[in-house]
Amino acid sequence: MTKYLLVLLLVLSGTITNSQSIGEICGTPIPEQQWENTFSELINQFRALQIQSGSNRFTEYTIPVIFHVVHSGQSIGSFPNIQREQINSQITVLNQDFAGTGFNYQTYPANAFIQWAVNQSLPPESRDSLGRVKIANINIKFCLAEKDTNGNILTEPGIERINLNTRGWSNPNIFTTPAALRTYFDGTIKPQSIWNAKKYLNIWISDKNAAMPFTGFSTLPPLSTLPGISGNGEGTDSTDGIWSYSSAVGSAFIFPGGIYASPNVRGRTITHEAGHYLGLRHIWADGNCLTDYCADTPPAFTSNTGFPVYPLNPGSCNAPSNSPNGEMYMNYMDYSADPAKYMFTYDQAVRMQTAMLNSPLRNTLGTHGLCVAVLGFNNEGGIIPAHFQLMQNYPNPFNPVTEISFSIPEQISISLIIYNSIGEQISVLLDEDMKAGYHNIKWDASSYPSGIYYYRLVSQKETISRKMVLIK
Ligand SMILES: [Zn+2]
Repeated sequence: MTKYLLVLLLVLSGTITNSQSIGEICGTPIPEQQWENTFSELINQFRALQIQSGSNRFTEYTIPVIFHVVHSGQSIGSFPNIQREQINSQITVLNQDFAGTGFNYQTYPANAFIQWAVNQSLPPESRDSLGRVKIANINIKFCLAEKDTNGNILTEPGIERINLNTRGWSNPNIFTTPAALRTYFDGTIKPQSIWNAKKYLNIWISDKNAAMPFTGFSTLPPLSTLPGISGNGEGTDSTDGIWSYSSAVGSAFIFPGGIYASPNVRGRTITHEAGHYLGLRHIWADGNCLTDYCADTPPAFTSNTGFPVYPLNPGSCNAPSNSPNGEMYMNYMDYSADPAKYMFTYDQAVRMQTAMLNSPLRNTLGTHGLCVAVLGFNNEGGIIPAHFQLMQNYPNPFNPVTEISFSIPEQISISLIIYNSIGEQISVLLDEDMKAGYHNIKWDASSYPSGIYYYRLVSQKETISRKMVLIK
């Protein structure tokens, strides 16, 4: 009961609290050995291809994402019907985490796992210039779907809001075990709302029962191309995707105005589930010192929680792969608190790249022209570490007023300029020092004709342009 009240208070206050301890617990099923055996063969083929091509480079993918926000009539901004800015910030988190530049990655200890890497004779691909186990760049990006499966423009990119009362669905918060919630989503909500799983990563977000300490689950990438064959936990055309508790979505660092539940305040629930979605296992492999089939993640006796300190539990597992540098609690596939996690490894990257290349529900994911620009990256595809972590206008199309919103983590001088379709500058909305945080600037286009317009945000380091449409 106390816990329920805490959650209620948290929801009503819309702020972050440190007294709440939901903890990231994941409901993704443990894969069958047959699935792992098939995966191992495909990984061997992938590595052989890399050796043949003489390159360790990974293919770049960009995955369109649709968030199905399942609520029971709450207004936008009221839990669990969270604001678009909170959802957008999840895309930024995914992009930075999968690029190896996620929140707190600079805190990786200077001597992390060096001795263990030597003992294991890890290859150069798995190590960085200091000899540590490397924080990998997976080369997989995520973007907000701009269009639905019929090609219609979404009023809120990447978001479909569904009032469960209009669908005759039960409220997900009545299910009191992870298995029951998963069964309900897989059997009812997902099949009735999924968008083409060959084109989109579907993410459902909703309330859950307060007594259940878990925040996410995912389907695994199916590996068989035979129709009708799907093992435990593998996604199908009607179930594929991720579920997350609404208040575990997004980053309070990027969008402080959202609804978050500590310690899930940096969007790592969905980073973790996206790891499963692309074929990763928990680093402790759901047993004591079992293998996650990645040679560059040290064995772990069990899952870790909270904010561990390096080195954590050296020698916790027996030979042959005992780790003198302890367990990799900072890996996204552990259960440590969101801010304590900031890495995938090279072997984990190989698994995810292999899934993207081979799984029948992953190998056709690409933007297909379905996406707006990728948040967290500049126009050249480089990573934006500090600026414009959130940027969009709403509504779009609009008439005659739209609001352009962006988020910056430090005070910086910013210009916001409007151009018409032939590139003529028609208005300067901002040209000044802006405080750190979230900003929302209105543009009233009453005096302009219908058509395509562009807005451009300029700082000393970055310039980003976006398109918008005025329809009168
Ligand atoms: Zn998990």
